[in-house]
Order: sequence, then structure tokens, then C-alpha cells
Amino acid sequence: MFEKTSILIIYTGGTIGMIADENTGALVPFNFENINNQVPELSRFNYKFDFHCFEPILDSSNMNPDIWADMAQIIKDNYEEYDGFVVLHGSDTMAYTASALSFMLENLNKPVVFTGSQLPLGFLRTDGRENLITAIEIAAAKEDETPIVPEVCIYFENHLMRANRTTKYNAENFNAFVSGNLPLLADVGITIKYNRNIILKPNFKKLKVHTSFDDNVAVLKIFPGINSRFVESFLKTPGLKAVILESFGSGNAPSEPWFINILKQACSNNIIILNVSQCIAGSVEHGKYETSIKLEEIGVIEGRDMTSEAAITKLMYLLGKDYDNTTIKKMLGQSIRGEVTIN
Ligand code: ASP
Repeated sequence: MFEKTSILIIYTGGTIGMIADENTGALVPFNFENINNQVPELSRFNYKFDFHCFEPILDSSNMNPDIWADMAQIIKDNYEEYDGFVVLHGSDTMAYTASALSFMLENLNKPVVFTGSQLPLGFLRTDGRENLITAIEIAAAKEDETPIVPEVCIYFENHLMRANRTTKYNAENFNAFVSGNLPLLADVGITIKYNRNIILKPNFKKLKVHTSFDDNVAVLKIFPGINSRFVESFLKTPGLKAVILESFGSGNAPSEPWFINILKQACSNNIIILNVSQCIAGSVEHGKYETSIKLEEIGVIEGRDMTSEAAITKLMYLLGKDYDNTTIKKMLGQSIRGEVTIN
């Protein structure tokens, strides 16, 4: 017998699942079991839907690696039973969670589509309804029995993006996310135009889930006027194993001796320093300007066109594997889930 397409919708929290309280008008989460009342269109899909609702549901500012691990575990436990997964998540940290999941889920051969909204589902002008309906369609899409998008991705306002290439850049526009260094996986208009040259190909291997993440990482965003006291004490954080250096433009940082010397000291103390750009598009290229030559010389790693979100979660993943630093540095220079462009 022909089996119905089955989709697991995992609701973690965020604006999408809110309605205005009848008495106070304040935003409160609605009971997800009643989702059909909020989105009656769901019954028009001829799919089998199941729902998993996180308890407690979370504003995404409260996400952390343990909760990412719970999400990966839910996908693992249900992997064989469903054709695709839709994760409803607050937009604020969606790019971090979705990037983390991309590293946690090795050999993913089914779609895991994150979405959310800027206006709650309970609002008339909500963007959540379209985001949810299209995310479901993408999670279910197959060609020759094979999922079209077998990767972790984010769908928001007509754009399907690879999760670990995405950044939230707008807090009020429906179009809240950008994929600065990779074309869209799909552009949604009257039809869904999949960009098949970009979408990762399935490898048909068995799913492997890696949930041990090491959080001894930190981000150092530089700015003109940054002082030595701050940089020095930051790099002396107890337990610190890796730093994402958010530099200017194509990877430039102050070339003053104090700055270089403090970073050099950290590198020789086995702290990994990964250089990514503060810009949303473009790539870190050591040596393009004189101000990045020194970084290369002291052992800072070029993060190329990785987003900060991908860099943080990739480092948490690699450190969690207990690899030695030589292996971690080598893997930072490789694309393991399509997170970085390697020429
Ligand atoms: N603060 C909310 C969250 O990230 C915003 C949203 O859902 O878009 O959970």
C-alpha cells in the first residue's frame, strides 16, 4: 500500500507559537496540540503529521548545547519513521541551533528545515503561516524517492538557506536571515525553485549523531580602540580552548605589537584562534593586506567565509570530539557540512 508522507514537527518555542492573551493582550504560547485551529491549512496536506513539543518551550535566547543535543536526539530517535523534520524555533538564535544541528547530524539524508516567524501565528498578518506551510512542503519534497534537500536548512520569507551559512540580520523585517556567502538553496515564488547545484547530495550512509559539544570557546570582536587589558584578560579566561576572532573586512586586525604579542602568547598556550570576518559577505584571506600577514605568522587560522555561528558551533563540535589541536586546525580548513567555501 502507498504510504503517506510523514513529517515530524518539533516545536521548541519562539514567536511563531504565540498568541495574544485574551485578557492581557500579552504574547503567550498556545497549546501546540491545537495547531490545526491556528493553521487549518495543515489538514489540506495529505500527510501524516506528528508533533513534538519541547517542555518547557523556550525563547531562543535560552538555547544551549544541551538543548541542541536533545533536538538531535529527537531526530535520531524518529529518523526512520519520518520523511522529513520541521523545527519551529525562535529566530534570534536559529542560525546557531541550526548550524549546531548540521554538525551533530553526520550523514543526514533527510531534510531538517528550521523555521519561525516575526509575527505570531495567532496574528492576522503573521508570516508564520506561510513559513510553516512552505517548510513542510520542502521537508516532504522528493524526486525519485530521494529527498530534494537532505540537509539542515533554514526557511524564512521565501528563502531556503543552508543552516550553517545563515545569519539573522534584521529584527523587524519578515526577511530576517541572510546567506551572505552561499546562494539560496531554493527561492520560493509561485514555484519552489531548487538550486540543485548547491544542495548537498545524499550519501545514503547511516546517520551518526554527535552530541558532545565543548563550550570552552569565545568570540573576540575587535574594534578600533580595543585595549590590551581587555584582550589580555579575555585570553586568560580559565579553560578557554578556542577563540573566534571577529576581524575587519577580509580578516584584518590591528598590527600593533601588543595585540600580536598577546595573540601569539595565546597560540603558544594551545588556544586555537580562528579568524572570521565581521562582514556578512566575503572571505577572510590572510596576506591580502599587511594587517593580516602577522596573524598568519603567529598561527591564527583563516576562517575563510564561515559565519560566526558556524565557526562557534564547528569549534564546539571539534573540541567535543577530543581531537588534538593539529587535527582540529586541519578540519577547520575543510568543509565538513558545507559550511565553508574551499576553492
Ligand atoms: N525572541 C524570539 C526568539 O528568538 C524571537 C523570535 O521568535 O523570532 O525566541
